[in-house]
Amino acid sequence: MTLDRFGREINYLRISLTDRCNLRCVYCMPEDMRFRPRAELLQDGELLLLIRLFTELGFHKFRLTGGEPTVRANVVEMVRAMAQTPGVRSLSMTTNGLLLKQLAGPLAEAGLQRVNVSIDTLDPVKFKRLTRWGDVQDVWEGIEAAEAAGLAPMKLNAVIVRGYNEDDVADLAALTLDHPWQMRFIEMMPFGDVAEFQLAQVITSQAMRATIEARLGPLVPVDGGRLDGEARLYRLAQGQGDVGFISSVTEPFCAFCTRARLTADGKLRMCLLRDYEMDLLTPLRAGAGVDELKALITKAVYHKPWGHGLAHNVVPRNRVMSEIGG
Ligand code: SAM
Ligand code: SF4
Repeated sequence: MTLDRFGREINYLRISLTDRCNLRCVYCMPEDMRFRPRAELLQDGELLLLIRLFTELGFHKFRLTGGEPTVRANVVEMVRAMAQTPGVRSLSMTTNGLLLKQLAGPLAEAGLQRVNVSIDTLDPVKFKRLTRWGDVQDVWEGIEAAEAAGLAPMKLNAVIVRGYNEDDVADLAALTLDHPWQMRFIEMMPFGDVAEFQLAQVITSQAMRATIEARLGPLVPVDGGRLDGEARLYRLAQGQGDVGFISSVTEPFCAFCTRARLTADGKLRMCLLRDYEMDLLTPLRAGAGVDELKALITKAVYHKPWGHGLAHNVVPRNRVMSEIGG
């Protein structure tokens, strides 16, 4: 078990498989985003070694993200190797869903347990405007393929952006009337060069809840309003699934945080919204042994920041979201 200096048990690692992406969502990265040379990114063997060390330190929950994790060339074989690593109890992925039509079956067969699929609107025109490049039909077919492959329970993520999709919140929430899905609304967070846009266009969870209730009726707290991971869950009358809110900006859940993030270039980042990172790739390539690497991980965990500083205008500047891995 690995504890931080505040006594939180840190056992959940989100791994960015790549900084690259087949979309350019306006809330995530600039359109002319430049990616790192592949040689600077964790190679397969390096990543698998680090995962083994994390499991030996008590991490047991792993989520693959990015960039877009499905664009990593050998994603199915990497998933298979990770699923077979002793100590990996939970293995899931956050994806934009574009490639799930082809990959959901092979990923499930390789040992992936669940997917969270990002879908910010059901309207094809708005979807293209938000993602700059995407076709929402591909995402929808990806969701169906994931369900058919048994990647359940299905969770959908939407980031709501003023002037882009704030009118679509109720349509998205209404999906839970017909499907046993969790539809989660994420407050947009500020990063790097996109921070000013993000801060100006954020819609709060409270505003989203009000919009949904005005059209679909009361949202009743599930489980007494307790957090499910990072989401507060509610249910509509007649709802088969849940509506969740991830309110990182207005109602942070830092006290309950169990997570760390491994960036595609091998840095261990201990808070999504703080710049503090521990470089693991450089020592690994310089020949550090497993004990030395484990000591670096333990040290980074110990120094995990208590929480983010958005309330005091402290915004992470060294990376945008796609480089950290959501
Ligand atoms: N490409 C995959 C996807 O879009 O699901 C995985 C990576 S993406 C960075 C992970 C999650 O972060 C997605 O649900 C995305 O909507 C969310 N996200 C991206 N930028 C964000 C921001 N500025 N604030 C809040 N969430 C954001
Ligand atoms: Fe790509 Fe996901 Fe970022 Fe959109 S949110 S640009 S799909 S990494």
